[in-house]
Amino acid sequence: MSIVIDDVLFNYGEMQMRFDTELPANRITSIIGPSGSGKSTLLNIIAGFEQPLSGKVIIGGQDMTDLSPSARPVSMVFQDNNLFAHLDVTQNVGLGRSPNLKLNAADHQAIMSAIARVGLNGKEHRKPEALSGGERQRVAIARALVRQKPVLLLDEAFASLGPALRHQMLDLIDALQQENAMSVLMVTHTPEDALRLKTWLIFIENGQISATGEAEELLSDTGPQALQHYMGNQQQD
Ligand code: ADP
Ligand code: MG
Repeated sequence: MSIVIDDVLFNYGEMQMRFDTELPANRITSIIGPSGSGKSTLLNIIAGFEQPLSGKVIIGGQDMTDLSPSARPVSMVFQDNNLFAHLDVTQNVGLGRSPNLKLNAADHQAIMSAIARVGLNGKEHRKPEALSGGERQRVAIARALVRQKPVLLLDEAFASLGPALRHQMLDLIDALQQENAMSVLMVTHTPEDALRLKTWLIFIENGQISATGEAEELLSDTGPQALQHYMGNQQQD
């Protein structure tokens, strides 16, 4: 599904944000930009957790601006994965299907298949404390998968993982995007993630989108100055 952000205005106190862009359907788009620039806010506006002052959010050709988050074709995964400590893997994934865990046979089938797809076979009955960081993020991804929504938002979902695990998770997202023809937006601190998956890229600075295009072009030597500056600063970190 295409995602159109049609001249959306949003303010947090002094911080004024304006987003106007169209994201390609059925691809991965990376969002990069300095801390506090508005990346999470943009995802929250698409998911419906924040309401724009003006402008529209159009997903798959339909105006979603006034719809609640649950009425939108969108799932979101966060950095701290929001798993419930007292629930096991199956139950945490099941929450994606039904908030009160009233599950029918088709739900159970979908849950088992999502758990298998993210590689957590045999760990169905573990609690989050008995899982590694990467495994916990797999649970969060499985929970998003069972919702079967065509838009997946990842807000620095892999930022706390080391490089090898992060690469595994990125490759899993790449495969899932293709299998399910999803439109995926992922906020990342690491431009190399966008290059690895050859994504579309949007660069946000100070509440505005200051560059959009193919990651391979924007992040090359001939890309915009602002991005080169940002990447230079990243490398010094
Ligand atoms: P990013 O995800 O790029 O780090 P955010 O979208 O979280 O940035 O935040 C953008 C700006 O909005 C920041 O200046 C931040 O301080 C401010 N902000 C974020 N969330 C809130 C909030 N709930 N209330 C007030 N200001 C907020
Ligand atoms: Mg953020």
